[in-house]
Amino acid sequence: MNIEVLDKGFVEVIDSLGSDLTVVNSARVSFGKRKTTYSDGDRKLVRFLAKNKHYSPFRHMMVQFHIKAPEFVMRQWYKHVVGIETTNSSATKDHAWNEISGRYVPVKDFYMPENWRKQSEDNKQASEGVLSDVAAKDCSNIFEDFMNNAQNAYNNLLDKGVAKEQARMILPLNQYTEVYWTASFQAITNFIELRAERTAQWEIQQYANTLKKLLHGIYPETVKIWAEVHNWTD
Ligand SMILES: Cc1cc2nc3c(=O)[nH]c(=O)nc-3n(C[C@H](O)[C@H](O)[C@H](O)COP(=O)(O)OP(=O)(O)OC[C@H]3O[C@@H](n4cnc5c(N)ncnc54)[C@H](O)[C@@H]3O)c2cc1C
Repeated sequence: MNIEVLDKGFVEVIDSLGSDLTVVNSARVSFGKRKTTYSDGDRKLVRFLAKNKHYSPFRHMMVQFHIKAPEFVMRQWYKHVVGIETTNSSATKDHAWNEISGRYVPVKDFYMPENWRKQSEDNKQASEGVLSDVAAKDCSNIFEDFMNNAQNAYNNLLDKGVAKEQARMILPLNQYTEVYWTASFQAITNFIELRAERTAQWEIQQYANTLKKLLHGIYPETVKIWAEVHNWTD
């Protein structure tokens, strides 16, 4: 499963652990029981678990994603490091990260926004609406000039023999990067709930909404119940 995001990004599911039955059987081990088919009783159980914060059964389902996203999006994503494992002293139990290295691979892709959003007046972090066509054209010209200069300078440094690890210092945060991210169902839904939310940056919202779709494809019953209990809007 692979969904394109923004102009050159994507999220792809590389692998996943478990199914809708995983959460059910992880909970039912308490009674020495295991199910092989999913029933209405299981729906009721999962709803009870999700509603009453019995989250540990949701941590047995894991997904490995391949993500291509602008660096400024990944900087926000990387803040999700701790996971929600409270039974182990390891601080990064639920999240595994690996990233393409700009020391090995020259940077070639950059995010180009489709429009220019206005600074929100009542939320210092947020944007609100878009600039008029005339103002947006000016901004696009400024942006394109800058991007041409930055990319030319980077390529010139490489041509002169400068190491990639040093030449990359001059590149802007809209450079695309690629990572593998593995996290539990609970950690992924925590990410979605924080980042699909309207106060999160628009670009990371696109990735969070994509994860919703991908997660639903893998664990349809569990996501449906989780979304109802946690009031997901779509
Ligand atoms: C809209 C928005 C704006 C933001 N702005 C900024 C900003 O300006 N600057 C900035 O630095 N960050 C900012 N952040 C990042 C934010 O502070 C979190 O670091 C990030 O969202 C990760 O969330 P998390 O801790 O829930 O994730 P995870 O690391 O995945 O943690 C998951 C959960 O584990 C539990 N947990 C984690 N650590 C502990 C602990 N030590 N003890 C007990 N339980 C724990 C909590 O329940 C937590 O929700 C912003 C986030 C959002 C959504």
